[in-house]
Amino acid sequence: MQTSIDAGTLYIVATPIGNLGDISQRALDVLTQVDLIACEDTRHTQKLLSAYSIKNKTMSMHDHNERQRQEHIAKLLTEGQSIALVSDAGTPLISDPGFHLVRHCRQQGLKVSPIPGACAAIAALSAAGLPTDRFSFEGFLPSKSGARQAALLNLANEERTMVFYDAPRRAIDTVADIVTVLGGDRYVVIARELTKTFETIYSDTAENLLTWLNEDPNQLKGEMVLIIEGFKVDPNAISPKIIDTLKLLLKEMKPKTACAITAEIYGVKKNALYDIALELKG
Ligand code: SAM
Repeated sequence: MQTSIDAGTLYIVATPIGNLGDISQRALDVLTQVDLIACEDTRHTQKLLSAYSIKNKTMSMHDHNERQRQEHIAKLLTEGQSIALVSDAGTPLISDPGFHLVRHCRQQGLKVSPIPGACAAIAALSAAGLPTDRFSFEGFLPSKSGARQAALLNLANEERTMVFYDAPRRAIDTVADIVTVLGGDRYVVIARELTKTFETIYSDTAENLLTWLNEDPNQLKGEMVLIIEGFKVDPNAISPKIIDTLKLLLKEMKPKTACAITAEIYGVKKNALYDIALELKG
């Protein structure tokens, strides 16, 4: 079924993340029919277009010229042209240029329409075996260890599955920082070279993963997504807020009653509080 395209529309077109077969018929139709394709890198996109024998006009639009280009693109759209935006791989705007352009177009009341397809984060998540009902996409971690550890520390209590983009050559340092900040027991998945010949999806505790990476230098090549299991809340953990309440009640009543009331308020086990109450009482 041939897609018909609308005049004056900016199409956000997802392209493959490795395997050239991962592009929809609709994406190919749009790339063929639009008046212009705005590309992160025209030479890179040209390879995809050539593979599908698509001959169309391209223009560069990357992080360094996006602000200038957005005015020009919005003007062409206003004149009725249809334009596609593509990045080097996957879904534009996902750790890729395009946000300023899309916001500008939407603010101008211009139509922006997504043509969905591959995205490394979603592909990795779909095969990782970690909870996907809620997850947090964190983009790239800082490249310097100090800043990376600080970023991980900020996420120490994040209960959702966390998805990161990272360079495999940094993988050993990143996983070492995960061990330091989040602990060696935290479950981590590395999804490398997805959809390509050397696709590898490996999951283990951070500590074991570090050993695996150190033993196999081949795992430090290509592209990778790193997924970290969310923080598991210990139902028996007693938070400082609970202890404050217990302290307050202990001033007025016997430990047994104070523990029972605190347990009722916070939904924790009475027995878990009793030793703490005796200690607080001195
Ligand atoms: N917009 C892209 C998307 O939708 O996935 C992501 C662009 S971002 C600049 C590039 C990063 O995505 C890489 O550094 C890597 O972390 C991840 N990535 C892209 N292709 C990948 C692949 N085939 N396998 C694993 N990770 C990939």
